Amino acid sequence: MTIAGRYAPSPSGDLHVGNLRTALLAWLFARSTDRAFWMRVEDLDRVREGAAERQLEDLAALGLDWDGRPVRQSQRRELYAAAIERLAAEGRTFECFCTRREILDAPTAPHLPPGAYPGTCRTLTEQERAARRRERPPAIRLRSEVDEWSVTDALHGTVTASVDDLVLRRNDGIPAYNLAVVVDDGAQGIDQVVRGDDLLTSAPRQAYLASLLGIEPPEYAHVPLALNLEGKRLAKRDGAVTYRELTARGIDVFDLIAASLGLVGDSPQALLDGFDPSQLPREPWTFVPPAPA
Ligand code: GLU
Repeated sequence: MTIAGRYAPSPSGDLHVGNLRTALLAWLFARSTDRAFWMRVEDLDRVREGAAERQLEDLAALGLDWDGRPVRQSQRRELYAAAIERLAAEGRTFECFCTRREILDAPTAPHLPPGAYPGTCRTLTEQERAARRRERPPAIRLRSEVDEWSVTDALHGTVTASVDDLVLRRNDGIPAYNLAVVVDDGAQGIDQVVRGDDLLTSAPRQAYLASLLGIEPPEYAHVPLALNLEGKRLAKRDGAVTYRELTARGIDVFDLIAASLGLVGDSPQALLDGFDPSQLPREPWTFVPPAPA
């Protein structure tokens, strides 16, 4: 198996400086440890026409390179289906007919945090399932056997989070993000996952799912996000935040991102020498829109 890192954008629009910063960090973590680096387009839903191509162009313009051709999740559906079948054959799945409302309204089991799946459909009889199948198609959930799981993160240490009966396949037939990520990271030999810390609490459930599929959990590094001036997560609607918008204003996006990380150099390669994750900022980066050059 290769050892590799990856960047896995969702092609819902152009990447903003926060996304590009995370991509640069993923590249630095991988290349500074002699890993391969894969690009994976997570295009199972929320796809905007042409966005994947634009994202890859912007990542290349920033100076990042990757091995092989970018992988597209939309072309890997058999892999996700096979993983779900395997778990189903082991008795680790169940059909869930709950609406979002029903989940919110149901009392949560005392050992699970609010908002966790309350277990409603775990124990339906075959007759009840048949009746509910006439109302709506089911989602497939994992029959989780643990309440929590722990992972090790390069920046956060040991992270423990609750694990509920997570969705593996949505009721519209689309494989769930958590399942696709775990299957792909396993199939691609990815042993280092660097991404935004909004996904930190998803890592334990993903590592648990990986363990059930016989996949060694990767090393994780969840890096701080970029925030806007109001302290909210930076978004495209904040304006003048994408590679193209900033470049059009004469801003050197690479310089801007490197400076935000306290790194000095004029290309990703130049930052590799002496790259030390322990020196990275631990706080979110407040993006102050630079004045046009
Ligand atoms: N596609 C996800 C996103 O753009 C990232 C998933 C991951 O890195 O595991 O937020």
